[in-house]
Order: sequence, then C-alpha cells, then structure tokens
Amino acid sequence: MSQFFSGQLSQLAPYTPGEQPKDKNYVKLNANESPYPPSPGVAAALNAREVDGLRLYSDATAIELKTALASQYGVRPENVFVSNGSDEALNFAFLAYATDGRGAAFADLTYSFYPVFCDLYHIQADVIPLKEDFSLDPRDYYGRNQTIVIANPNAPTGLALSRDEMEEIVKANPDSVVVVDEAYVDFGGESCVPLTQKYPNLLVVQTYSKSRSMAGARLGYAIGNASLIQDLETIKFSTNPFNVNQLTMKAGAAALAEQSYYDGNCQKIMETRDYTTRELEKLGFTVLPSKTNFIFAKKPGLAGAALYQGLKERGVLVRYFDKDRIRDYNRITIGTREQMDILLEKVRELLQV
Ligand code: PMP
Repeated sequence: MSQFFSGQLSQLAPYTPGEQPKDKNYVKLNANESPYPPSPGVAAALNAREVDGLRLYSDATAIELKTALASQYGVRPENVFVSNGSDEALNFAFLAYATDGRGAAFADLTYSFYPVFCDLYHIQADVIPLKEDFSLDPRDYYGRNQTIVIANPNAPTGLALSRDEMEEIVKANPDSVVVVDEAYVDFGGESCVPLTQKYPNLLVVQTYSKSRSMAGARLGYAIGNASLIQDLETIKFSTNPFNVNQLTMKAGAAALAEQSYYDGNCQKIMETRDYTTRELEKLGFTVLPSKTNFIFAKKPGLAGAALYQGLKERGVLVRYFDKDRIRDYNRITIGTREQMDILLEKVRELLQV
C-alpha cells in the first residue's frame, strides 16, 4: 500500500478471483467457466465492420442489447440494466441500496464479493449463517429493514431455493430491496425474473459468464422495476457511462438469437454434473445436490486443502476456500465429460483406489 492510499480504504481486503496459473495447461475447473465456446453467431457478430466502429464510443443507452434481453425475458427495455460483468451490477446495487445506513443482509457462505462491497462502501453487513446442512432458511430473511442479497442458486454450495420461497422473502420485505444473484440459474434453478413484474423491490442479476460462455466478454444485466433500473443508470452515468464495450454488446445480442445452443450446453453440463456426482459418491465423497455448473464436495478423512493441492499437482485446478465451515470442501466446476473423467482419474490416483 502506498502512503497515498486513502485511509478510508486501508483495511479493504479485495476479492480474490479464481487463480489463472500459466505454468502448465491445467484442466481448469476452478472458476465456473463454460467448457463450450460461444455460439457461432457471436464470432460472426465480431466482424471487421464492428472493429472499425471501435473508433466511436459505445452506445451508452445500450438500447439494442436491452431490447434483445427484454424480449428474451418478457419484460420491457426500461426493466433492463446492462453491466460490465454481473459484478458491476452487484457493485452498483450495494452502492445504490445499502450505503445510507440501512446495511445489507446475506449468508455467511455465499459469493465472497458481497462482504468486499460492504467494506468498500462502509456498509453494515448482517451475515446470516446458513443452516448446518448449508441450506438457507427463508424465514431468517423476513421483515429485515436492510437490503437483502441472495445468490440463488447459491455459491459455493450449489443449493437453490424455489421461486415460491424467494417470493415469500420479497413479500416479507416491502420496504427493502431484495437482490437475487442468479449467476447460476440456467443450470436447473427457478428464476425470479417473472416476479419482477409484480414486486417493485426485487432486482434480479444475471450474467453471460456461465451459461452463455462469455466470462471474458464481461457482460451482466439486472432486471427489475423501471425505477430500480433508473437508480442503477444514475450510478452508471456517475461512474462510467460506457460501462459495456460495443463488441461485447454486439456479442451479447447475437448470443440471444441462438439461445437453443446455450440451452443444449446447459443440458449437457447438468448431465455431466449428475454423472460426476454419482462417480464421486462411489468413491466415498459427500456431494451437495447442485443446481449449478459446479459441485461442492468433500471426502471424509481427506482435508480439502490436500485434495486441492493433490489435484493441482496432477494438472487439475479446483477451488478451495480456506474458511470456517467449508475447509473440508472443494468447489469443482463441471467441464466436458472428458475433463470430468480426467478429474475422476486423478482423484482415484490420489486416493490410490
Ligand atoms: N455472482 C456469483 C454468485 C458468482 O459466482 C459470480 C462469478 N464469480 C458472479 C456473480 C460474477 O460473475 P461475472 O462478473 O463474471 O458476471
């Protein structure tokens, strides 16, 4: 830290992204990326004409992409906000809805960026423990006078609440914004997007990084009541009006025209997830029932760190969290069937079975 860094931020512990080591070619199962490429229309959309267009600023209204997303989700363009990855939409939501002393409530085991935003903006965080089995009790979130942030399905557990359970939480907090982070919803979860028409306090955040194979393009979006979207626009125009670059917006709109390709990928990933779960269970692992493109697994008698390290030495990267309650676990992204067979082979090697 330099001597010039703001004293206000000196305690800030930044978010740690999944590692990207370059020393060898790993089977990369640590960042919940898709093993499949974007659909053909995405490459076609990123053509020479679009490259020429880079001399101009991107469209700050993002109207083309908003219109395409609106028609995909059965809402209006004024119900859609687009962001530089969904991290940015989440960032803006914390800034917009929790900085005035209201505070924010979220689970103890959830996306580890939420506490970082709280540190960054000096937001009082109420961290609500998940139950012993890592499930979330919706009643813990009723009647809170705070901004509520729930990843549904949750990370790193992979567990999901039903839409009905989420609706009860939204209903029970009419004076607070409920942010539902649906980064993983396309792998078997129930989206709250249809509820946004009914509840003016519900903001749903999604991403192109997982099910739409575009983590590197950095594209996320939020869907909600037009007045909530307007709040996010105010923050955007006060920080970075051109938050999403033109090529990414084109790629994002093109992907929506090929949704069935992505639905097919999600289907394959869910099948591979169920296969991997069964195989790990045969090897004595406990695997939480996942509605995401990753599984959260532990093997009694094998430390989480040892599994992580043993796999890394064998060329497979998974994600280990050195954190209370989950030290025994690893989060394993679902790749192709071939990648998961390599994982399973390395696990067997480690276990010497
Ligand atoms: N929410 C959750 C729960 C996530 O796991 C991630 C991925 N790290 C994100 C949001 C952010 O993803 P992105 O910024 O790539 O859209």
